[in-house]
Amino acid sequence: MDNGMIRKYEKAKLYAEERDRISIQSMAVNFDGKNNPHKVEFKDDGWQCDCHFFETRKRCSHTMALELILDQMIPEKVAS
Ligand SMILES: [Zn+2]
Repeated sequence: MDNGMIRKYEKAKLYAEERDRISIQSMAVNFDGKNNPHKVEFKDDGWQCDCHFFETRKRCSHTMALELILDQMIPEKVAS
């Protein structure tokens, strides 16, 4: 890496520690669940998952796992 890129990388490492700077607007995830693969989406400030549990509860192990991974990067009202 050249010096310019090294400085950017150092800045990137600091940013990676400051997750509240990042606000995820939308994402699509293939989730390899224990029993089946699932498609999970985050858009319009809300989760969608194609698993059976999500249909009734609007939250499931897949969306909650992603909430843990994406700590502070999704809107607060969705995470709570
Ligand atoms: Zn699910």
